[in-house]
Amino acid sequence: MAGTDQPRPERPPSVDRLARSLAHTGLPHPLLVDAARTAISAGDPDSAALIARSIKRRMLTPVINATGTILHTNLGRAPLAWQQDATYSNLELDLLSGERGSRMSTAPALIARACGAEAAMVVNNCAAAVMLTLAALAEGRGVAVSRGELVEIGGGFRIPEVLARSGATLVEVGTTNRTRAADFERAVANPDSDIGVVLQVHQSNYRIVGFTEAPTTSQLSDLGPPLVADIGSGLLDSRCPWLAGGPPGWLDNEPAARQTLEAGAALITFSGDKLFGGPQAGIIAGRADLVAKCSAHPLARALRPGSLVLGALQATTLAYLRGAGDEIPFWHMVSTPVESLRARASEYGVGQVVDTLATPGGGTLPGVEIPSIGVSIPGDHRRPLRELTRPIIARVVEQHTVVDLRTIDPADDHEVATALRDQL
Ligand SMILES: *Cc1c(COP(=O)(O)O)cnc(C)c1O
Repeated sequence: MAGTDQPRPERPPSVDRLARSLAHTGLPHPLLVDAARTAISAGDPDSAALIARSIKRRMLTPVINATGTILHTNLGRAPLAWQQDATYSNLELDLLSGERGSRMSTAPALIARACGAEAAMVVNNCAAAVMLTLAALAEGRGVAVSRGELVEIGGGFRIPEVLARSGATLVEVGTTNRTRAADFERAVANPDSDIGVVLQVHQSNYRIVGFTEAPTTSQLSDLGPPLVADIGSGLLDSRCPWLAGGPPGWLDNEPAARQTLEAGAALITFSGDKLFGGPQAGIIAGRADLVAKCSAHPLARALRPGSLVLGALQATTLAYLRGAGDEIPFWHMVSTPVESLRARASEYGVGQVVDTLATPGGGTLPGVEIPSIGVSIPGDHRRPLRELTRPIIARVVEQHTVVDLRTIDPADDHEVATALRDQL
């Protein structure tokens, strides 16, 4: 900055001049003016460069996830390789007829095909999917939910609140630890409750263990009102036909889209960016007449995604249909053998190669740990690693900084190894 070898000006420098002196940061001038103003009004013009830097650091930027948490909520859940050129698309044009088409006949139709549903539609996220489904099917009526499934997912998604916002009335059934099909039958038989939907919610991010009981999807599927199953995590098919080695053991009892529909759910809802491995989105899939009801609800227009999200979902879904799980970063990362991680780690040529445990993350599969490999160096270096041009997000374990190779793209190995070496 100007002035280090000149006497300090008596009057504060002009905002404009100070802002211009920060042009090298690459920030647009109005933001530099903000930084200059803040610094000058704090009586410390020299701090403008630091303020400009913190403005820049608050912007969205690519980072290297070295935490071993595969769907890291702070790092955008599932990583995704998808770009859209500056071009038009047939978002709402039917190329066959030349007539106006529906954006729901593109990626959503493929998702329906991939999970065996009659129809599907896409909204902004799973919270929106649940809200829209309940509003479309049960506005002004009752929704029966087990007391053991009145969950809160991260970020303030609480089933009772979402339900209230959708204009439906919560009808609690059973107890926290034990709910039976007969409890639901009683609720449905009670005319005062006027049950419009039976709702099953997956306990994504916690487990109740011990003296527990919950009805199965098939037990709840023929009570009369449509059964909506919020499976949340978005596992498409429990057999994982897109993985050469079949389903990993840790998937265990995770509910899957195809099997939940086969068990009789009328509709399912799930996230696009958890185990599905796509962009942030919420998918509603199942019976065509009910999906049509959701599409026709006024909220649907407010919650609809654009071509960026639909394009990314289409690419992800085509990979599933091709059986190419390796092309979906989430599935590629979870199925990489430990031995190939170990081989990469030994190439780092820095620190110690250590055994670690990676986790699926993203509020899915609580307690699941996937054996992994890390590189460890003594001391807590998280801050300098975070301050790199491309930040590296690492963990500290017992006074050592550990980078976990399961979540690091092999193309980034050299960059991470160099950064670790620079810390020593
Ligand atoms: C994650 C989750 C949600 C919320 O999904 P978002 O896509 O983050 O809105 C809702 N229900 C269940 C069961 C979930 O696991």
